[in-house]
Amino acid sequence: MTVVKPQTKPKIGDEITLPNGKRVTVRNVGIPIVEPPPAVCDDPLCPWHGHLKVRTKLMEVTVEKMRMHKAAVVIHEWTHYIRKYNRYERRRRRIKVRVPECIELKPGDRVIIAETRPLSKTISWVVIGKRE
Ligand SMILES: [Zn+2]
Repeated sequence: MTVVKPQTKPKIGDEITLPNGKRVTVRNVGIPIVEPPPAVCDDPLCPWHGHLKVRTKLMEVTVEKMRMHKAAVVIHEWTHYIRKYNRYERRRRRIKVRVPECIELKPGDRVIIAETRPLSKTISWVVIGKRE
């Protein structure tokens, strides 16, 4: 439950000591397009600072609601081609994602989410970074 924002941006492999004495290593998530967040947390289910493994299934989505504890509702929008009419239709799906404590979000943010193991009945995706 501790979040620290170091003066220099943490890099992969850095070791940071939190105020409660815990030592946290910034892990390599294995996805080169995403950089580690500027803050460091001791959330065990954080892909950067905990032990949560992510799969290589990625999506760029928009945050809709932030009303759950450590979780959010995001909207995934895509276009689906219909051959009979030579046109595209817009499809959207709401996905519940886990938000680690080191990543601060607000509705409207573009984030990158990665698939992970099922964390609860409806959550099997985790936010790994923000899109500027
Ligand atoms: Zn974290």
